Amino acid sequence: MNLIKSIFELLVPSMCPICERETSNGICCEKCFIELNKDFNDFDRIKSLGVAKALAVFVYSDRVKKLIEVFKYDGFLRIGKFFVELLAFKIEKRKDLFKDDAIIVPIPTHNARIRERGFDHTEFLAKELSKITGIEYKKLLFRARYSKSQTKSKDRWENVNNIFIALNIPNYKNRQIILLDDVITSGSTMINAIKVLQELGYNDIICLSVAFKL
Ligand SMILES: [Zn+2]
Repeated sequence: MNLIKSIFELLVPSMCPICERETSNGICCEKCFIELNKDFNDFDRIKSLGVAKALAVFVYSDRVKKLIEVFKYDGFLRIGKFFVELLAFKIEKRKDLFKDDAIIVPIPTHNARIRERGFDHTEFLAKELSKITGIEYKKLLFRARYSKSQTKSKDRWENVNNIFIALNIPNYKNRQIILLDDVITSGSTMINAIKVLQELGYNDIICLSVAFKL
């Protein structure tokens, strides 16, 4: 568990994760922070993922990539909280896209990755985002490990020959699902998740990420 490391990094200013030269102001150095402004998805460009739209705070530049990596691999939670504040701002700003009855659903992380890193980065983002926006958080999606997983649980699982399985909860089906991930590159992870949810009748889906490749 990286807990000690995380606490240490939350409290103590360290080196800028972007340039690795200057002292960090908690996120990165001041110079890199100014540069980071170029990477904001200010005009709210939207990526189309089949039936769903995807919106991101940043475009996926080398700077943003480094920031996401120190959050995800090194457990630098202060950066994670910075991302959450920006995600919350995006939701607030685009009230036309995000509905009041929405539910935040994180893209599930591999258990092996969670063990390696000591925490689940998408769950962290989803929970923190729920805390500051008041939008409900629900773990609806899971990584499919075995095709026999339906028989193991009392809950109704649906397995759609996919990398994900989803919980079948009728009450949630008329609500908007905000699928949350750190990065959307090709979009294939999101498209997989959307398919699984759609098969179960979740029809109102929007994707949100810290960064995406347009
Ligand atoms: Zn820097």
